[in-house]
Amino acid sequence: MNLALSGIGVSRGVAIGKAHIIQRGTIEVLESVLPEHLLDEEIARFLAAVDTARRQLESIRERVPKDTRADIAAFIDTHLLMLDDATIVTTPVELIREHSCNAEWALKMQRDALVVVFEQMDDTYLRTRQCEVDHVINRIQRILLDNGQSDSHGDSELLEDAVVLTDDLTPAEAVMLEHQGIGAFATEYGGPLSHTAILARSMQLPAVVGVHALHGYISDGETVILDGLLGVLIAAPDRRTLDYYREKQVREQQRRRELARLVDLPAVTLDETPITLMTNIELPEDIEAVGHESASGVGLYRTEFLFMNRATPPDEQEQYECYTRVINALNGKPLTIRTLDMGADKEVDGSGVRCGSNPALGLRAIRLCLKDLSLFRPQLRAILRASACGPVKVMIPMLSNTRELHQVLSLINDTKNALLRENLAFAPDIRIGGMIETPAAALLADDFARHLDFLSIGTNDLIQYTLAIDRVDDEVNYLYDPLHPAVLKLIKMVIEAGQLSGKEVSMCGEMAGEPIYTRLLLGMGLREFSMHHTALQEVKRVINSSSIDTLAPQVHVLLHTSDPGQIPGLVENLNSMTF
Ligand code: PEP
Ligand code: MG
Repeated sequence: MNLALSGIGVSRGVAIGKAHIIQRGTIEVLESVLPEHLLDEEIARFLAAVDTARRQLESIRERVPKDTRADIAAFIDTHLLMLDDATIVTTPVELIREHSCNAEWALKMQRDALVVVFEQMDDTYLRTRQCEVDHVINRIQRILLDNGQSDSHGDSELLEDAVVLTDDLTPAEAVMLEHQGIGAFATEYGGPLSHTAILARSMQLPAVVGVHALHGYISDGETVILDGLLGVLIAAPDRRTLDYYREKQVREQQRRRELARLVDLPAVTLDETPITLMTNIELPEDIEAVGHESASGVGLYRTEFLFMNRATPPDEQEQYECYTRVINALNGKPLTIRTLDMGADKEVDGSGVRCGSNPALGLRAIRLCLKDLSLFRPQLRAILRASACGPVKVMIPMLSNTRELHQVLSLINDTKNALLRENLAFAPDIRIGGMIETPAAALLADDFARHLDFLSIGTNDLIQYTLAIDRVDDEVNYLYDPLHPAVLKLIKMVIEAGQLSGKEVSMCGEMAGEPIYTRLLLGMGLREFSMHHTALQEVKRVINSSSIDTLAPQVHVLLHTSDPGQIPGLVENLNSMTF
């Protein structure tokens, strides 16, 4: 009898193995009121627990295998950094004094306060950071409650290829479990953008999160199947189901082997059109992966991640050092640095910018930078100075009119002049591009192309603004449609504006990394794609098995169909064509 539990598939792959349950239970915290003279002692107990947490994480950090990629180890560093953050260390101390309470209760109060702050964030990425904070707070709580001295994952021995089932996993735990040879994991909590989920994808470890009531249905040691693509966990599988998934597992392994073989091949269509494949990065550490996947460079470096989780923005020197680190790691491949894309709902710590009533339409990205030059100028100076160290392009997000564009261009000129006066080196001909993310910018793409060196289509925002759907609102997610004829028309306009003006057009939104859209985009004339590095080989495989000469007329028909309902079917036809 099959019992299928569903969750969110966050890392594809099929695992068949024995269930290994790690049950930590919820952390029950009780309030105690302490007499004044015991408060110092309680504070010392709290700080000692923070120290123990730090030592535990440092020890895990040391045990991370040497060949683990830098971005994986960086997740543990993020938790270590949180242990130095005032919200986690100083505020609970203040709460112990203010409420004369025990350390566990103070930490619980602070966690509850942080939950409210996180829940008010409209940005999905930031909202998911709450689970990182939870991981760190839970670690301290367990130490305070005296059951967190070790990092064991249950007492029973972990079997090779086990499917680990637990309430939640920290990135550090995920790394250690992977090192011990587990086959997959499923958790009750967590979301697709959590660090643990990102890690699972990086480590190619099949994983499903959000499987509710996991422990109620499965017992330790029984055989289970986990499908990380479909997001299902199957208990008590019958023979037919087992056979089906074993076959699927073989196909998946075959797919990975085939993709691995593509790494060193160029991306070129059957009719010999070379296609540029770039990667998107968020942290300097991500750059490691670019080397692994043989991308032609970075098409989008989301610099806002440098500004997050800290009290004050990074100054010019810190930014310069980060950018040069990435440039050096790229060994001559180009780096496209996007200027800060934050604001509105996402307060840049220390900037004092607050939510508008309609955050997605508010003060974000270039609007925020032009309003707060104290934030923007140091970044422009850092990017320009870094451009002396290797090929750098600068890219402006969220442009909606040419006035903003001219303001930015004139600021860049002023910055160049200031650097000249100060005798500081920069590339005088640094290329400046704009992201096309608003329908207004797409409609004016020819104007933008005239004044810029390149354009990059940000489909995540372009789709949200064209279809008037908030990309983080679950209620309207179903309307998010890259194949909406209005979206396709705008994309086509931008590509044509680039062709007419002889300026490069790339795409760096999620659509560029979805293989189901690759042939459509090739047929529309797109020649440069930038995506998460894990999608590169799959997209390359589609490119290398496509002929643009054959695709283009079919795509022309698709774009001019009088019945938009037919578009998905026509895209499917493109994808099943053989050449
Ligand atoms: C986009 O909008 O498509 C894009 C790449 O930018 P972000 O996802 O960072 O808003
Ligand atoms: Mg965007």
